[in-house]
Amino acid sequence: MEETEQRYAYSADIPELDDVDVLIIGGGPSGISAAVAAARLNVRVRLIERYGFLGGNLTAGLVGPCMTSYSLDGSQQLIRGVYEEFVQRMMAIGGALHPSTIPAGSAYCGFIVYGHDKVTPFEPEAAKVVAQRMCLEAGVDLLLHTMVVDAIVDDCEAVNPRILGVVCAGKGGLRAARAKVVVDCSADGDVAHFAGVHTRQGRDSDGLAQPQTLFFRVQNVNDQVVEEYVRSHPEDYRPYASIVAKATAEGRFPAPRRGIGLYKTMEPGVWRINTGRVLRRNGADAKELTLAEIEGREQTVALLDFFRNNLPGFEKVELRDTATQIGVRETRRIDGDYELTLDDLRSGRSFEDVIALCGYPLDIHDPTGSGGGTGGDAPATANIYQIPYRVMLPRYHDGLLVSGRAVSATHEALSAIRVMPPCFALGQAAGIAAALSVGNRASPRHVDYEDLRRELLAQGAYLG
Ligand SMILES: Cc1cc2nc3c(=O)[nH]c(=O)nc-3n(C[C@H](O)[C@H](O)[C@H](O)COP(=O)(O)OP(=O)(O)OC[C@H]3O[C@@H](n4cnc5c(N)ncnc54)[C@H](O)[C@@H]3O)c2cc1C
Repeated sequence: MEETEQRYAYSADIPELDDVDVLIIGGGPSGISAAVAAARLNVRVRLIERYGFLGGNLTAGLVGPCMTSYSLDGSQQLIRGVYEEFVQRMMAIGGALHPSTIPAGSAYCGFIVYGHDKVTPFEPEAAKVVAQRMCLEAGVDLLLHTMVVDAIVDDCEAVNPRILGVVCAGKGGLRAARAKVVVDCSADGDVAHFAGVHTRQGRDSDGLAQPQTLFFRVQNVNDQVVEEYVRSHPEDYRPYASIVAKATAEGRFPAPRRGIGLYKTMEPGVWRINTGRVLRRNGADAKELTLAEIEGREQTVALLDFFRNNLPGFEKVELRDTATQIGVRETRRIDGDYELTLDDLRSGRSFEDVIALCGYPLDIHDPTGSGGGTGGDAPATANIYQIPYRVMLPRYHDGLLVSGRAVSATHEALSAIRVMPPCFALGQAAGIAAALSVGNRASPRHVDYEDLRRELLAQGAYLG
């Protein structure tokens, strides 16, 4: 399928959904949190999600564990609020372990120490049901199986164009969905992009973004043998690194990686595998994503074969499942009122509009090769750093907040705050800000920070 330069003019009268106050696009960590937080402030909230279930990378991506919600040294829990409630509720149905019980270097952390103290192991099926319950109990109107394909903008030529809603597509065809405030939690900044918000992708030097990985889970692993092998090879920077290095040198390793990314799950013999790597594919382009999915699936088949024949503990391994879609680490980042930088993270800079505290370090997978990840030669971040509200405000547009992975940050800073607990924290702040904006009839840009802070604290967030 080749796209041509030719344009095709198309216009249509489309049915309109009933209006709501706040429209959340995307039901991943940031979207779930935004929807719950906003609905608890008694505004009418609708969440539109393209899949038939909530969770985003938590579920469709099979991504896990949730990286740390603590300070880098593991001493303070920073991300609480909706995230903590989400974890507690998964624990109550046997679907998660509390991060306070998971030390750095354990099998649940992929045996990684730096930046991996107090991660949250969880089961994707528990995440699906808990996310759904939390949204419905808060009064969120869920619209699943619906993909947003355009933005409705008041006056594109205005200095500050206002987003009035979105156009979405489902089995019934196109629909208009309008709201007083739209929160883009699509991770790719889809609404922002459709509305004409300026966005950037990848690193400054060449625009290349972090690579993609198709997560899969395996079963029938001998947990004890894996633990014993990894612990008896401390010289390996990542699990099985020397076996991978030899195979790579001999042209036998099927992905550009320097070790095996493997995370024990709560079920004996079952591990999540984060080892495939697809380079140089744009995750915000369907054609490129198609190629990435094809490559990711072939890597999975080859990796399984490699595991079986080369890795102690994996002799009888079987495939449990692959993710619904390949994991996309990085696409569009909006140009916001403030751009979070590496310096902010290194210095632990204080912001007067702080909405989240985080401790996860830089985590840049090499866009062109096998290196990267946490630790190594990446610059160190502060034990605790802050994220300001302004990273969620597109610089020239009104009526729109962008939360989760597409916020305004440099390639380096985003590599740290993109993990799931910070996305929950960002989402909670976006949801509250959207609700306050509706209540005050003011644009999100003019939400009073003291009100936002007060509501965040009332909803259990921690701001130091
Ligand atoms: C390979 C990989 C490994 C990772 N490892 C970890 C890890 O171990 N731990 C960790 O904490 N984080 C990890 N991350 C990071 C983390 O998963 C994401 O950055 C995080 O999930 C982003 O949250 P989000 O809410 O912004 O978006 P997402 O989780 O991507 O959710 C976005 C949601 O929006 C929906 N959506 C998108 N576009 C549209 C549209 N146009 N219309 C309707 N719905 C739409 C999607 O279906 C999805 O449900 C990893 C990421 C990847 C890709």
